[in-house]
Amino acid sequence: MTNHHFDTKLLHQPSYIDKQTGAVNVPLHYSSTYHQQSIDEFGPYDYSRSGNPTRESLEDTIADLENGHAGFAFASGMAAISSAFMLLSAGDHVLVSKDVYGGTYRMITEVLTRFDIDHSFIDMTDLDETARNVQPNTKVIYVETPSNPTLNITDIEGVAKVAKAHGCLTFVDNTFMTPLYQKPLDLGADVVLHSATKFLSGHSDVVAGLAAVKDEEIAAQLKFIQNSFGSILGVQDSWLLLRGLKTLSVRLKQSSDSAREIAQYLHHHPLIDEVYYPGFSFHAGYHIHQRQATGAGAVLSFRLPDKKSAGVLVEAMKIPVFAVSLGAVESILSYPATMSHAAMPLSERESRGITSGLLRLSVGLEDPGDLLKDLRQALDKVAAYQTLQV
Ligand SMILES: *Cc1c(COP(=O)(O)O)cnc(C)c1O
Repeated sequence: MTNHHFDTKLLHQPSYIDKQTGAVNVPLHYSSTYHQQSIDEFGPYDYSRSGNPTRESLEDTIADLENGHAGFAFASGMAAISSAFMLLSAGDHVLVSKDVYGGTYRMITEVLTRFDIDHSFIDMTDLDETARNVQPNTKVIYVETPSNPTLNITDIEGVAKVAKAHGCLTFVDNTFMTPLYQKPLDLGADVVLHSATKFLSGHSDVVAGLAAVKDEEIAAQLKFIQNSFGSILGVQDSWLLLRGLKTLSVRLKQSSDSAREIAQYLHHHPLIDEVYYPGFSFHAGYHIHQRQATGAGAVLSFRLPDKKSAGVLVEAMKIPVFAVSLGAVESILSYPATMSHAAMPLSERESRGITSGLLRLSVGLEDPGDLLKDLRQALDKVAAYQTLQV
């Protein structure tokens, strides 16, 4: 399928058409085990933790979309990320972007440490700082770009070069961009990870994780871990994710167009201190992002002066759901300080720019005019609140 455009690949995969019936959707293979011909002859599947045809269709699809050789589906994004970290051993060290997803932060600081896997959080937008912090026992450099929720940009190719020079692997969390806009394996990364709960499935109805790798040796190791640890994605969720993936391109393009309009509106609004959006030409990582990704995505964050103002805005907005998560058909507004990044101590949060006035908006498929109108009336309420205070 390698010659087709990405949008076409989303709809046509060798595994999509059922060989037995011609059905145009992969069947739900609800079977934990598989009948074998004899004591010496085994079919392609034996037990569904090790392999299931519905899940395999999804795994082959993410491998193809990320230009990898193998894909893996897990029970959640965190299961994918945690399983990838199991490629490490006691005594190893991992270098991590300091504004990493809150759950990844928790896994690294509270679980990996118990297995004697050490870490350093660094500003990975700075390649010199990255190179300086590689230790003799560093085995993985872990990148999230754009980062969550402050949308900082890391040079994937630059980091992968530093990693290769020191014999480390590069892991990239590609949740925000998806392979529609960014293909880390093409830029030298070894493992690409996804919370497929977000844009890939897109409908706020599945919790899932995906991984894709290029190297066959790493693929074999990750397959071994997936089977040993066993945090596989179930059959029904694999199917729902396959269905969601087909519309990834139209969904994400539409949402990204609306996000750009909203980011511009907020940037010019006097009540907003700062807008974090990698599509602005004055964003510190703009040129790197332009080089490594083909879109700015549908997530932006913006800073109001304080928690009270953020609270007034949240209560006044009528269209977005106020919730954790992102990347859905409906817009999702969230408050990182007490939601996605609640696992992070206050001082750590503040140092990463996750201040008490920060809100994150994942733009959905509503009419952009309606979203702008909703924001305008909500910001008017914030203005009215602030006048009362003086
Ligand atoms: C949500 C998210 C995760 C965790 O994924 P789950 O599916 O919730 O386990 C990891 N990384 C990023 C960037 C996320 O947004």
